[in-house]
Amino acid sequence: MSNLSYLSPVPSLAQRFIIVYTENIRKGACVMRSIYRVRGGCTLCAMCYYVCPTKAISLKPNVTAVIDAEKCIGCGQCADNCQAEAIVRVERKTDIH
Ligand code: SF4
Ligand code: SF4
Repeated sequence: MSNLSYLSPVPSLAQRFIIVYTENIRKGACVMRSIYRVRGGCTLCAMCYYVCPTKAISLKPNVTAVIDAEKCIGCGQCADNCQAEAIVRVERKTDIH
C-alpha cells in the first residue's frame, strides 16, 4: 500500500477559501475595499513573505518587501506579523461605485 496518504487531493477548508475568494475577485464578483502596502521601516526580515497565503509578497534585496496588489486578498496576516509595523492597510482604488 502506498505511503502517500498525506498527499490528499482534497483541498483543505483554508485552501478552498483562498481558491474561491481569489477567483471571485478575479471575476469581479467580490470587490475588496482594502489591500495592504509596505511603507518605510521594512527590515527585510521576510516574515510577511512566509505568512502570506497567496504568495503576494516578494522581497527586493536592499530595498523592501513588495506586495502585488493583484494577488493580495486583504487578509492582514502580513501586517499582523510584521514586527517593524511596516505594512499598512490602504483603500483599493476601484472604478466601481
Ligand atoms: S514582515 Fe515587515 S519588516 Fe519583515 S519583510 Fe515584511 S514588511 Fe519588511
Ligand atoms: S494582506 Fe494577506 S494576501 Fe495581502 S499581502 Fe498581506 S498576507 Fe498577503
